[in-house]
Amino acid sequence: MVKIKKNEYYKTQILNLIYNKQPISRIRIGEITGIRLATITEIVRELIKEGLVKETGKIRNRQGVGRREKILEIIPEGKFFIGCELRPGEIQTLLLNFKGEIVHTELCSISPEQKSNEVLVNIKSIINLLVKKAGIPYKKIYGMGFVDPGVIDVEKGISISSTIMPSWKNVPVRKYLEQELRFRVFLINTPQAKVLAEHLFGKGRGISDLVFIEYGDGIACGIISDGKPIGGYMEIAGEMGHFNFPGREEKCRCGNRGCLEAIASIHSIEDRMRKIVKDSVSIEDIVCAFERREPPAVEVLNDVSEVLGIAVANVVKLLNPEVVVFDRNFKRMGNKFVDRMFKNIKKNIIFGEKVMFKISDMGKEQGALGGAALTLQNFLKKT
Ligand SMILES: [Zn+2]
Repeated sequence: MVKIKKNEYYKTQILNLIYNKQPISRIRIGEITGIRLATITEIVRELIKEGLVKETGKIRNRQGVGRREKILEIIPEGKFFIGCELRPGEIQTLLLNFKGEIVHTELCSISPEQKSNEVLVNIKSIINLLVKKAGIPYKKIYGMGFVDPGVIDVEKGISISSTIMPSWKNVPVRKYLEQELRFRVFLINTPQAKVLAEHLFGKGRGISDLVFIEYGDGIACGIISDGKPIGGYMEIAGEMGHFNFPGREEKCRCGNRGCLEAIASIHSIEDRMRKIVKDSVSIEDIVCAFERREPPAVEVLNDVSEVLGIAVANVVKLLNPEVVVFDRNFKRMGNKFVDRMFKNIKKNIIFGEKVMFKISDMGKEQGALGGAALTLQNFLKKT
């Protein structure tokens, strides 16, 4: 019994080492881990049999003498991981291989009036379609990460509430999908999934202290501190969209007045301009007017850059990140606005002069990618 457990622990350690340091030889694995070579050979044989690892050639050992050592690499098609993001009006899914490459994506639309059980059926169908179109056998799928825009209970696998669908309350997402799809389901909220995607594949790659500022119709931040995602007691850490600005009257969907989101989200900016010019205008029009220095647009966007500057600076002061990655939606705001906002952030930071600002170049799959990445991480932890 003890031996089995010990070997399982070694197996996880060896697979992680091959994953992170490939190509790598059995002897080098022994040097790093201190595990006996006979045990390594036995475990590697198992990993090869399971289709996770392959021998890809020979290299000289590090001393450059003696016989050449066989080297090991992971097989990209050895395991697959699904990411599924629920967002306003649609479900985004993707399939990730063991190497972290997106193999296939599928998108389907939903309506906010749909009942939660209908949405669950939609999720099941789109996942089945994703797997079918990619031509992957189900047994090669380790699991999926469900990316939720609302409040979740990660332990129980329940989505508690959502601001995008009124009927979505206490939905047993994990229980239903695990029963229907027959693989593991993990839950993660959207900003956390997005920061994880940046941390593993994007502008925050390898950065241990990282913040991602999600920006669109809502504002939130995903946090990685000391290499670990920070979810908080109820997995709702990072709700910076509800940072409150005293004296402001803008009404927020949370019920309060003067929240960052109610002042500075894309939707709120369009709303504010519509009230001033008495006509509906898109954010693109507002940004153009701002760049031409037209008074109402300048007034509104200067104010927005100021409140965003204060809010992001507060996040930086609290968490001391090395890098802050900003949502790709900031590209829609134009360089002039972004430069001004960056200056406003810097102005409000006291000791964090070294913090770097980057704009994300991830596409609309970012959330789903984070969900799949979480599943991959869980696989590497628990093999
Ligand atoms: Zn609010």
